[in-house]
Amino acid sequence: MANTGEKVLVIGACGQLGSELTLELRNIYGGDNVIAADISTPKQAELRDSGPFEEVDVLNKQVLKDLASKYNFKHIYQLAAVLSATGEKKPKFAWQLNMEGLFNILDLALEQKVASVYWPSSIAVFGPNTPRRHTPQHTVMDPNTVYGISKQAGERWCEYYFLKHGLDVRSLRYPGLIGYKALPGGGTTDYAVDIYHKALAGETFECFLSEHTYLPMMYMPDAIKATIDLMQAPADAVKVRSSYNLSAMSFSPAEIAKAIQQHIPDFNITYNPDYRQQIADSWPQSIDDSAAQQDWGWKPAYDLNAMTKDMLLNLRKMQLV
Ligand code: NAD
Repeated sequence: MANTGEKVLVIGACGQLGSELTLELRNIYGGDNVIAADISTPKQAELRDSGPFEEVDVLNKQVLKDLASKYNFKHIYQLAAVLSATGEKKPKFAWQLNMEGLFNILDLALEQKVASVYWPSSIAVFGPNTPRRHTPQHTVMDPNTVYGISKQAGERWCEYYFLKHGLDVRSLRYPGLIGYKALPGGGTTDYAVDIYHKALAGETFECFLSEHTYLPMMYMPDAIKATIDLMQAPADAVKVRSSYNLSAMSFSPAEIAKAIQQHIPDFNITYNPDYRQQIADSWPQSIDDSAAQQDWGWKPAYDLNAMTKDMLLNLRKMQLV
């Protein structure tokens, strides 16, 4: 995706990822060239004021067509989805939104001759029989959550549209994303955001996962950088057309608590695992992302300590505003 003045549509722009990705895309491509779209309206003034916003339901094909006529966008980021924990509470709806939302965008992209589509997958595509450490790019995938099943099916369809229709679809399997600008939207790794808020509020954090549950995680600036690097890579460098493994760090609740205690020594954590423990237990502990490294030069910048320092610094600044 070169900087040619072509318009970009971001669906799900008000979410945890979308609110940061939209701002970075506007920095690169210009505010007026990046259309933020979501079923709910933006809460952050920065997002509201930096470019166009459209209230859009990704399940409404006519509205999507009208939007294409209005803006003639050439690139689409389709981020709207039901996440893992919420998906287990509303399985049929999660399947409907995650699959139909993707199909609507893939078909719109073909009809409107869109140049590229970005659609995020997740480590949730893996399941209990997947090797849990350094999970390879190509391996056993038997997800047992609705979210994971929808992401795995989505990956297959992305590759199918690339192979059968030549559509330039690109995708990353994000680990748990951690950021300070927006709250997470109902995933199994949300604890790793909430814990910072509780620590700064001087409260004990009750974790819904057990002490030694290791999961792959990533700080939001790395996730944004990976997304933009992948989308800016030359098409022939993008060899994986289902979705790339992507990795930055892996830690347990006990380890993130320890990292926070280096800054806030009185901070306390307790453990009370709920239904999300079972989801976490079916996911990898760490990811092998050598394909992303080789194909388009992926390299993360943040580890647990660097992220913790930056999260606490920025959340403190936000408290002062
Ligand atoms: P989120 O829940 O914070 O945001 C999703 C956004 O989509 C929300 O603003 C919501 O209002 C919007 N939306 C919901 N239904 C819609 C509809 N019908 N039409 C238009 N917009 C709609 O999620 P997120 O964390 O920002 O995740 C974005 C994407 O990244 C998702 O596809 C998710 O599966 C993927 N992902 C996220 C993580 C993570 O840790 N956050 C990890 C792996 C993958």
